[in-house]
Amino acid sequence: MTVRWGAVLALMVLLGGCATVTARLTPAPRPSALARAYPDQVWGVRNGQLIMADGTRFPISQGGPTKTTEQALDQADILDMFAEPYRRGPQRNPPKGDPGRARYEPLFLKMYGDCSTRAFQAHMRKVAWMPKSAQGGTVNVTTVNGVDRALEAVVTDLEKLPPEMARYLAPTAGAFNCRVVAGTSRRSMHAYGAAIDISTVWADYWLWKGGEDAVWANRIPPEIVAVFERHGFIWGGRWRHFDTMHFEYRPELLPRRRP
Ligand SMILES: [Zn+2]
Repeated sequence: MTVRWGAVLALMVLLGGCATVTARLTPAPRPSALARAYPDQVWGVRNGQLIMADGTRFPISQGGPTKTTEQALDQADILDMFAEPYRRGPQRNPPKGDPGRARYEPLFLKMYGDCSTRAFQAHMRKVAWMPKSAQGGTVNVTTVNGVDRALEAVVTDLEKLPPEMARYLAPTAGAFNCRVVAGTSRRSMHAYGAAIDISTVWADYWLWKGGEDAVWANRIPPEIVAVFERHGFIWGGRWRHFDTMHFEYRPELLPRRRP
């Protein structure tokens, strides 16, 4: 073998290795993930715009000067929603950011509707909450984007966990609630019927623990978090502004795992 062919072979081995490594890393979600997450509503991304199934267009980025963290929440555009990667797995250390707290409100209003209108109620449905292990009654969630079916799949899997897990889950603090995020004018995901709070008894919430100075804490077992994430719900325990009882349907932030 000549030196040149040796070099080519070495390069091929190196590139092959890189390709394997790249394939193993799950790419961070981007705005195009919205089409995969909400296939009934979002067509895709083209020319810097998110195009909805009915032709409505939203800008991906509203540009302007660099935003502070608070501005990124209050005036979030679609790009801001993907700025902080949401990572699964046991949350051992306090989170540095708030992945998923930035929401482009016009998109969510377009998909789920305005809870102050009568038309909104037509999309709501009651789902049994932990009926076998805790007789947890029902929770009111939206049928839009299949949130009701996703929550039913969560319940089915939660019921398979060891019985001692039920105390974290019931009584639930509720799902649909036509309200804004505490202390802000932003709509909560509860206002769309796309979020649920599990029991408050084991919850740690930054506003109950001193506000901005609150030290992150969590008592919710990772097994419970993993079930919700498997079905498209992100967890408020991964936020610096933590809310460990809170789960909301945000499948765009949960990249599909390799089979
Ligand atoms: Zn909540």
